[in-house]
Amino acid sequence: MRRNRNVKIVATLGPASDGYEMIRTLHEAGADVFRLNMSHGSHDEIRARHAAIRKVESDLGSPIAILADLQGPKLRVGTFANDAEDLAEGAMFRLDLDSAPGDGSRVCLPHPEIFAALQPGATLLVNDGKIRLQVIECGPDFANCTVLVGGVISNRKGVNVPDVVLPLAALSEKDRADLEFVCQLGVDWLALSFVQRPEDVQEARALAAGRAAVLSKIEKPAAVKAFDQILAVSDGIMVARGDLGVELPVQNVPPIQKRLVRQCRSAAKPVIVATQMLESMIESPMPTRAEVSDVATALYEGADAIMLSAESAAGQYPREAVETMNNVAIEVESDPTYREVIEASRRVHRHTVADGIVAAAREIAETTDIRAICCYTESGTTAALTARERPRVPIIGMTSVRATARRLALTWGVNSVMTGDMTRFKMAVVNAARAARDGGYATEADQILVIAGVPFNVPGTTNILRVAPCEERLIFATDPG
Ligand code: PEP
Repeated sequence: MRRNRNVKIVATLGPASDGYEMIRTLHEAGADVFRLNMSHGSHDEIRARHAAIRKVESDLGSPIAILADLQGPKLRVGTFANDAEDLAEGAMFRLDLDSAPGDGSRVCLPHPEIFAALQPGATLLVNDGKIRLQVIECGPDFANCTVLVGGVISNRKGVNVPDVVLPLAALSEKDRADLEFVCQLGVDWLALSFVQRPEDVQEARALAAGRAAVLSKIEKPAAVKAFDQILAVSDGIMVARGDLGVELPVQNVPPIQKRLVRQCRSAAKPVIVATQMLESMIESPMPTRAEVSDVATALYEGADAIMLSAESAAGQYPREAVETMNNVAIEVESDPTYREVIEASRRVHRHTVADGIVAAAREIAETTDIRAICCYTESGTTAALTARERPRVPIIGMTSVRATARRLALTWGVNSVMTGDMTRFKMAVVNAARAARDGGYATEADQILVIAGVPFNVPGTTNILRVAPCEERLIFATDPG
């Protein structure tokens, strides 16, 4: 499905967006990637959503990426005899391993590994940071805390421990079961929650075994610190601003977002800016001006994708939320300042032949009247490198690998087209011209650029850049032989 924008839109599915009709509506409105949140929904619900997405994909003929977001080692308190307690500032509150229902003086925190890692002075945040506890003394099975900021604590509320690198397995038993389930269903991206170290990503990669690309959610201070190493072993990144803004002071989030987006672009790996982008649209058909500005900021920063969470999963206006993102993106991307900013933030990469070819393609497209850059890409790397250049003309990712076509739905500006197996470059040019014409990117009178690696089907061989006419007769007449 042809879009009038380059940034991609990720829509989280949930009770508000279940079923074929709604998923189709959201895709037509602009959602390029659907996120299945494994923290909510049974395997049967996930399976039904997955099937509906794939049916929309085959009915509309455009590759759609499915991103399964694993819950990760989310820490939670146990339950209370009265379901909830109001903690007063300055009071003492104890966390322990006793599974008996909690009261106003204590509750169970069923994670012995946390007690092993805690030190007096450490901060514990409960319920999205609304309650702050400070550890006064602790042992292998308890932590006595003083309440720094009070509030209502209720059954199974989430706990964040920002100051400590937790000795937690990157993937819980549930995550492992979910990972296997979604890989067998066939998803394109796996998102890992609460990544702390590059080894966490390596572990998930080993389990995914190439069946899905692996995206790390950056939401812990430890992950921000180890970001270079985490990026190196990830296929993509999500700036998960929800938990990041709990674990770190909220004012730290915007500069981190800017840095992460920039580094991902440099590494030619897709980056999603996520959470609370259009939060008020959960209940209102109109966003706030500040939310629109937040979406626009992510675009000016050069993000590959922007994400809806509860807005599309549980809100009252999922279609309107997708339309809002789509409209903001079209407006921002047509602003001359957007071009200036995106071009000023482009870095020069001169490490490989492919780096040189994609930079040359972008230069040629800026110099003459070129309608599209068509890149043959098996692993998706050539298309991602082309996207890193943020060219002014559309990128068509030509691939014979369905998984690549789908994964590229997350990458800035790439429109994927499935091709047969190529053996001759001349036929690749004919195919590219046809894809450009069929997609409405070019007419017979136009020119395109074709990037390929010959021999075909050998990853890492990008070695040809051709300026080609779109008319078949002229392609043959101008073929260099
Ligand atoms: C986040 O914390 O911003 C996020 C995307 O994670 P989740 O919605 O899975 O908590």
